[in-house]
Amino acid sequence: MPRETNPSGRASRRARLDKTVGAVEVSDMSRASSSPSRAAAGPAAERADAIIVGGGLVGLSLGLAFARAGLETAVVDRAPAAALADEAFDGRASAIAYASYRALEGLGVWRHVAAAEPIREIRVTDDESPLFLHYDHAEIGDAPFGYMVENRVMRRALYAALAETPTLRLIAPAEVRAAPRGDAAAEVRLTDGRLFKAPLLVAADGKDSPIRQAAGIRFFGWRYPQDGIVCTVVHERPHHGIAEERFLPAGPFAILPLTENRVSLVWTERTDLAPAIMALDEAGFRAELEARFGDYLGRLAPAGPRWRYPLAFRLAESYVRPRLALIGDAAHLIHPIAGQGLNLGLRDVAALAEVVADAARLGLDIGAPAVLERYERWRRFDNLLLAGITDGLNRLFSNRVEPFRMARDLGLDMVNRLPPLKRFFMRHARGTVGELPRLLKGEAL
Ligand SMILES: Cc1cc2nc3c(=O)[nH]c(=O)nc-3n(C[C@H](O)[C@H](O)[C@H](O)COP(=O)(O)OP(=O)(O)OC[C@H]3O[C@@H](n4cnc5c(N)ncnc54)[C@H](O)[C@@H]3O)c2cc1C
Repeated sequence: MPRETNPSGRASRRARLDKTVGAVEVSDMSRASSSPSRAAAGPAAERADAIIVGGGLVGLSLGLAFARAGLETAVVDRAPAAALADEAFDGRASAIAYASYRALEGLGVWRHVAAAEPIREIRVTDDESPLFLHYDHAEIGDAPFGYMVENRVMRRALYAALAETPTLRLIAPAEVRAAPRGDAAAEVRLTDGRLFKAPLLVAADGKDSPIRQAAGIRFFGWRYPQDGIVCTVVHERPHHGIAEERFLPAGPFAILPLTENRVSLVWTERTDLAPAIMALDEAGFRAELEARFGDYLGRLAPAGPRWRYPLAFRLAESYVRPRLALIGDAAHLIHPIAGQGLNLGLRDVAALAEVVADAARLGLDIGAPAVLERYERWRRFDNLLLAGITDGLNRLFSNRVEPFRMARDLGLDMVNRLPPLKRFFMRHARGTVGELPRLLKGEAL
């Protein structure tokens, strides 16, 4: 096996990072690296064990996981790091399932999270039905279902963990111009001329994933006729860590507890109506909000900007190609109805990091097809299942047609009457169901 494709051993990795080779053409990688004339002509390539394109919440988490496994890793993002951590970049907060929290703790991220609100109870109500679901974390143990964390708070925590990790480099702002893959290595060429080379390339570059497109991986999906309006609301009475999901005719209206007397709102609205709601003045917006929210938290005051996210469903037909793996939204984009998109991405992180760490320990090529296929087999079915469930729930609850209404009443009633089923769903909300990678079990990588 050529040495450059075998990332075992810290000394050899460091040697390879310091080593530079000439620029190479996609179709001719092996020849180029042994050709002194071409090496002299092109820009020097920096070597790493893995290159991750996309420094969002998922890409950075994977970078930290790879670094824990002893791999020299470079993460490339086109946005400047300061902009990514700014509130103006992303107004969302994420429900981090308990299993995802364990992974972030294991990666040294959680201790940098400045503010996290435990989710202790979940209430699901259907606008037109007296029935509702009530999950209380105490019914299945002490741990909460998870934590609500603002995305910008999570990004800052990831950057703090990154600053403590010498084997992980964030290259930002840096746009990827091309990412050709050869037999022995993948390359990432940046628009500023820099060149990186590694045996494994990971696309964590979000829903429109330029890397996925360049690799010719198609996806299956559609745009929902719904947008997600997101904002933070300050309220008078304490929320007691209760996350509330109301199913209204336009779609789910989620009230998610943040620290202090604040909640994050994910208000699903018809795409044709969302622009008018976004354009309302403060009094008009508050009136619409109160009509949906009710008064159980006392007086309400929207705080900060409003955000609008078009909602879509996408599943990549494959998660891997030679020397390439897709993770996070680059591999699957789902409706935010159950707050699971990031959690699925973090499950990808834990699974990919585990198969790669296992291969590296054995001295194997971390970008070999057998390693990447193990990752794909592990994650594709789980993601497909959850994507299908979230899509089905959204269709079932976002309409007023009578048979659908009866079906959801029946469903709510059944879950309430069957404690084992209810406990299963509660464990699912915690993310502790299924064949979990070590990081999600709170174990070392
Ligand atoms: C309204 C809403 C609410 C949500 N709530 C939740 C929730 O409560 N819980 C949950 O689990 N999930 C939630 N999600 C889903 C979650 O936000 C996403 O799944 C998650 O943020 C995806 O992260 P990512 O890192 O895969 O992608 P992204 O965050 O899109 O990151 C991709 C990164 O790649 C970079 N990039 C792209 N192209 C290039 C390029 N060519 N070169 C360099 N860099 C590039 C971008 O700059 C970006 O930083 C929600 C989603 C929405 C819309």
